[in-house]
Amino acid sequence: MPDWAIHLIVPLLVLLIVVRKEEHKYILLLLPFAILPDIDTFATQHRALLHNVFIPLVLVLIGISLKKFRTIFFIAAFYVASHVFLDMFGGGVVLFYPFFNEMAYIDASIEISKTNALLWTFDYGFTAYGDRWKLAQGYISDSVGTGSLALVFAAGVWAARYRLSAWRNK
Ligand SMILES: [Zn+2]
Repeated sequence: MPDWAIHLIVPLLVLLIVVRKEEHKYILLLLPFAILPDIDTFATQHRALLHNVFIPLVLVLIGISLKKFRTIFFIAAFYVASHVFLDMFGGGVVLFYPFFNEMAYIDASIEISKTNALLWTFDYGFTAYGDRWKLAQGYISDSVGTGSLALVFAAGVWAARYRLSAWRNK
């Protein structure tokens, strides 16, 4: 499991940049969709059951057919799709589950070696869906991620306090 901080903060930032200001309330309300796919951690099909292309696709199709709720379904679809996309960079996801049960992965990193040489990695493809993924062992939030969430949470509390006092002084 990669970090929840990344799963929450990255798509939130993208949507804040892209979506019109009047619709920012939906971005915040629907934020739980960014980590929703990890519910399959409790099934034995982690990184498959809710980590595939079909769930965001269905949400987009519902959005297309329900004009009134289009924004809501599109934002929810984006959150789920961003989760799946980011997990592809963190080990892989069974992208076409249940039709093709191999994990699609992308490995893209830059490292610096002891001799100060830059080491680039770029690799992608399909790999076996192993037990380690099925059973979902590993971090929910690593140390850096927990620190990041604490920082963002503190900013949220600060902003709420500020707004509350502005509202009281009206
Ligand atoms: Zn995940």
